[in-house]
Amino acid sequence: MNKDTRILIVGGGCFGTSTAYHLSQRGYISIRVLDRYPPPSCEAAATDISKIIRSDYNEPLYARLGIESIAAWRSWPMFRGLYHVPGWILSAANLSIPFVEGSIDTCKKLGVQGLERLTPEQIRSRFPVVKGLLDGWNVNIWNPTAGWAAAGQALEQMARVAQQQGVEYISGDKGYARKLIFDEISQECKGVICADGARHDADLVIIATGAWTPSLIDLQGQLTAKGHGVAHIQLTPAETKHYAAMPIMDNLELGYFFPPKEDGVFKLAHSQFVTNHQTDKNSAITTSIPHTFVQSPPDGLPLEIEATMRRNLRRVFPELADRPFCYTRLCWDADTADRHFLVTPHPGHKQLFLATGGSAHGFKFLPIIGKYVVDLLEGKLDAETVEKWQWRAGQNFETKNLAHMDPELELADLTGWKDRQVREGKQSSKLLYLYD
Ligand SMILES: Cc1cc2nc3c(=O)[nH]c(=O)nc-3n(C[C@H](O)[C@H](O)[C@H](O)COP(=O)(O)OP(=O)(O)OC[C@H]3O[C@@H](n4cnc5c(N)ncnc54)[C@H](O)[C@@H]3O)c2cc1C
Repeated sequence: MNKDTRILIVGGGCFGTSTAYHLSQRGYISIRVLDRYPPPSCEAAATDISKIIRSDYNEPLYARLGIESIAAWRSWPMFRGLYHVPGWILSAANLSIPFVEGSIDTCKKLGVQGLERLTPEQIRSRFPVVKGLLDGWNVNIWNPTAGWAAAGQALEQMARVAQQQGVEYISGDKGYARKLIFDEISQECKGVICADGARHDADLVIIATGAWTPSLIDLQGQLTAKGHGVAHIQLTPAETKHYAAMPIMDNLELGYFFPPKEDGVFKLAHSQFVTNHQTDKNSAITTSIPHTFVQSPPDGLPLEIEATMRRNLRRVFPELADRPFCYTRLCWDADTADRHFLVTPHPGHKQLFLATGGSAHGFKFLPIIGKYVVDLLEGKLDAETVEKWQWRAGQNFETKNLAHMDPELELADLTGWKDRQVREGKQSSKLLYLYD
């Protein structure tokens, strides 16, 4: 691939921005990123106040990548002040037990230090801030090397450095890709048309549109857009100090909880995801399509999701379970059935690549995922990774060792979310959006 190849990246979230950064690091000089929003895109799953950074995986590929990524989070100047290491407790109730057990084995084999199994009693005695019964926290592993990153700020930083290195970012309608252009005879991808009607010609197009990918291009069921319920509670300064002593606590079935940020925002998230099956008006593809509160500011969390989040919070921090949520979000990512990424050439269209399929675990690789995408483009990616991330429409998968095995809920079957913010007299979630 020549260094002046015109490369168009659609989507400037985690995969797109990391790819743009690494392309520019390797000396490519014509890189354009299209995104509906300026970086950090307010709809990107990557734009958040915190994301977990860890190496606990039962699949050695991601455990190795996690270790590599943690080294970058610790040392790269662009992430200075954005990475924190309180350690975490990874837990499973039932369905996720094989994933957690497998993670322990893999981490030990890879030399991760300090792993410990803890019972609920041991958790409460080591972290007295945890007062709940921890019912359902059946298999628990403490990993002191895991932490969290201020995700939206990290994404913004990486996009800024990429821009300093010559990458062009285009946003708004000018960056909102609506249609891919294919040569009528060869079917080769030639570029993209955006919402403002402008055409962006390119020698190579990389689709990195996260949860929006399956409604932009037909992926034959390989990706499902799933929404995760997220909520924030505003703590007082005294409470902030008190809860600073907690680790990240993540039960793969019963939700997860972050230590508060300095501004007292305590974040919790739900582990059972939502789909929203519709026919996309633009592409005519029927699939799960993100329903975000940025696009629909009057909407809020479904009542059933909030009730479960509060029930799960009560298991860990019962004293917080009835506190008001100061911000809520449905945050969308694209899941593959086997949770491997989808980083692959498109089999039907030359010069078209996909870099997506974060499957609820992609953010931690922000510093390095682009390096592997560029390796693929340059034909240097190792065969094992190529195979795991390949186009795999129609394949059946062994799914028993995965995280997040609960069946999805369909948004239309849930209640109370439509116009909820308005009904409850709250500001829209869009206005309350925070990432720093
Ligand atoms: C609630 C939640 C919690 C998570 N927690 C963690 C965690 O703790 N640790 C972890 O490692 N991972 C976590 N993840 C997963 C991680 O955030 C995602 O895997 C990762 O962000 C996916 O990156 P992406 O680039 O594919 O998508 P995104 O980061 O969502 O970026 C997609 C981009 O495409 C843009 N876009 C979409 N459509 C178009 C279009 N038509 N034209 C132009 N631009 C477009 C969007 O604006 C966006 O900027 C979590 C995900 C969610 C939803």
